[in-house]
Amino acid sequence: MIVIIGSGIIGLFIANELLEIGKKVTILELKKRKASATSASVGMLAPLIESKPYEQELFELMIDSKALWDKKKNDQKQSKVIGLKNNSSILVAQNFDDFEEIQFKKKFIDNLGFETKLLDKSETLKIEPNLNSNIEGSLFCKNNNQVEPSLLESFIRKNILKNGGEIKTVESFEKFNFKKNKLVFNEYQIKAEKIVICCGAWSNLLLKKSMNISFEIRPLKGVSMIFQTNTKMFENNLWFKKIYIAPRQNNQIAVGATEDEKGFEEDVTLDEMLYLSKYLWESFPEIEKFKFKKISAGLRSAVVDGNPIIGNLDINKDVICAFGHYRHGILLAPITASIVKDYVLEKKIPNKYCFFSPKRFNL
Ligand SMILES: Cc1cc2nc3c(=O)[nH]c(=O)nc-3n(C[C@H](O)[C@H](O)[C@H](O)COP(=O)(O)OP(=O)(O)OC[C@H]3O[C@@H](n4cnc5c(N)ncnc54)[C@H](O)[C@@H]3O)c2cc1C
Repeated sequence: MIVIIGSGIIGLFIANELLEIGKKVTILELKKRKASATSASVGMLAPLIESKPYEQELFELMIDSKALWDKKKNDQKQSKVIGLKNNSSILVAQNFDDFEEIQFKKKFIDNLGFETKLLDKSETLKIEPNLNSNIEGSLFCKNNNQVEPSLLESFIRKNILKNGGEIKTVESFEKFNFKKNKLVFNEYQIKAEKIVICCGAWSNLLLKKSMNISFEIRPLKGVSMIFQTNTKMFENNLWFKKIYIAPRQNNQIAVGATEDEKGFEEDVTLDEMLYLSKYLWESFPEIEKFKFKKISAGLRSAVVDGNPIIGNLDINKDVICAFGHYRHGILLAPITASIVKDYVLEKKIPNKYCFFSPKRFNL
């Protein structure tokens, strides 16, 4: 039995993968779920857009995970159920400065060995006629697509239950003891060969209280909105300087995202609504076309070096960490699950991915 703590996208993907290799799996989640990052996520699968200088290892991890997402597209029926699209991403330049910036971005991505296409204003508007006509141009990143996190979550949950996994909710889970294959918390005792900590931004709180271990992680709050439009307005994912927009099924669009240091605050506040609405209005003046559906807040877990923490702890090799995925957890869920599966099977983290292990913090 492997116990997974936390049922965000990372916990769900890991559970699914372990069930596929015949492991028994129980996921533990809080009865009153936290403002999970997954529930607010926009679901972009866009490693080229997200690539940054000095993040070579993270970029390679994103590319490897994207390849696993691309494989999923072969199953068209499943792709439809989870809202996995065939579209691309367009980085829009709204003024001359932005246009200069995207030319640098193109050079940077080209040097990484990937192709992008610089489009002028009319080429961009041909692809996305509903864009504001005051743009300068754009950078087209083919196949940097998107999945719908809520559809994805409910699909994997069903799959886990169908394959014999258990998702157990508990009133509270603040502290555990895990020794000699016995997980003890509150009034529970569970026999388990390994436990996996997948509590996103809350992982550190649990590890600190239970094992006196602390990583340099902080919560970064993010808010996204969903709107309904009468007709399909965009084909691709649109990235602006301050916001990004993803077309969803049934003429809905997702708009993300704020990023604020607000500790563990979970409620949506007016400044966040204003931020998203203001920049949406600057990109699409006809905001009366957007009917408001939903707003969600989620806490991303951001590690000090920007990389996720995936791998076993040194002081107890049966405690596996899988958190700190910051802005990229949906994109990185398949590769994270694959690394954890390899560790369970081979008792070691594949060499290529050792960089992400807790060892880099001497833990
Ligand atoms: C606004 C926004 C937009 C984003 N957009 C994208 C995007 O476009 N593409 C992308 O790849 N990523 C995106 N992200 C990032 C992505 O959503 C996260 O990296 C990912 O969801 C993290 O998943 P997780 O499972 O690690 O954590 P979470 O989804 O936060 O889940 C953690 C879970 O652990 C549970 N938990 C906490 N404490 C305990 C405890 N003590 N015991 C049991 N359970 C516990 C919580 O209730 C929660 O369910 C976005 C994030 C936000 C906030």
